[in-house]
Amino acid sequence: MQFKYPDVLKTTSLRILLISLATGFLALGQASFVYGQSSKKLKTIIVDPGHGGTANGTVGEYEGSLRSKEKDIVLGISLKLVDILKKQMPDVNVIPTRTNDTTMSVKEKAKFANDHNGDLFVCIHADAVPLKTGSRILGYKDKVVYHTKYVGTGKNKKKVVTKQVKKVPIKEYYKIPTTRKGTSTLVLVARQTAEKVKAMENSEADFITDTEDSSYQVNYSSPEWKASALLYSQKYFRRSYLLANLVQEEIAQTGRPNLGVWQREEGLWVLHATQMPAILIETGFVQNYDDERYLNSESGQKEIAEAIAKAIIKYRDQIDGPTRPAATTVGN
Ligand SMILES: [Zn+2]
Repeated sequence: MQFKYPDVLKTTSLRILLISLATGFLALGQASFVYGQSSKKLKTIIVDPGHGGTANGTVGEYEGSLRSKEKDIVLGISLKLVDILKKQMPDVNVIPTRTNDTTMSVKEKAKFANDHNGDLFVCIHADAVPLKTGSRILGYKDKVVYHTKYVGTGKNKKKVVTKQVKKVPIKEYYKIPTTRKGTSTLVLVARQTAEKVKAMENSEADFITDTEDSSYQVNYSSPEWKASALLYSQKYFRRSYLLANLVQEEIAQTGRPNLGVWQREEGLWVLHATQMPAILIETGFVQNYDDERYLNSESGQKEIAEAIAKAIIKYRDQIDGPTRPAATTVGN
């Protein structure tokens, strides 16, 4: 996934503001408990390896790159994550959107997550950044240049062509790897949860209440429904933000650079369209020398998958309350 941090978001004060805003939503989120699903447990987790099939995602292109493809890296991490979660959370359905190199549009992925009644949507991606081009001189070659001039005037005017051999450099161009590395997690900007409300309006799912009363009809245009839908979407934000922070905490524990939690303004269609808390993890930079090797290694993929799994287990413990048995540690 291509992601450029907006300059404005880099300032500390704004990040603090965003965090304060998020805290505000945490408080609001509490209020949403009065609207349905407050008791909904984490039963189904959808793990989405980004891209796949004809969509490579980012491909390593800097000089010395492994030429690895994001779709393969994120599949490797996702399959490890699914495996760990199934072992550590045997009572939870853990469903990957793809288990091989299949082409699947984001629309299909969102539909898949909604159709499987996911309670959590975890997208695994790797960062892309535009690379600078460098050049070096390999040697020189002769280039023949002709100069034309006219001498004399009138009938005596003559064209004189002289030949010159010049040495010109033979240049080679290459892409310079990025120095940026580390892991970040993206959530939707809180106000964009309105998009989620729209997604819910277009859905047949009855998410208002957990009651078994099938006769319950939702009047989508009623102010009551809109208010409850808004609160519900704020609850998505609260949970998404909670998990995103837990992921980054666990990533930091591994010693990898923790690039933090970012609220994304646009482009995360798949997060918009899923009717559940959703995060997108940018596991690392394919165009960084160290990160590309880390992301392609078994140990690197395992370390990231384990960190994400630990965060998800902590997330469940927090949202499902203390009645659950304590999660065992993730590992061998
Ligand atoms: Zn991607």
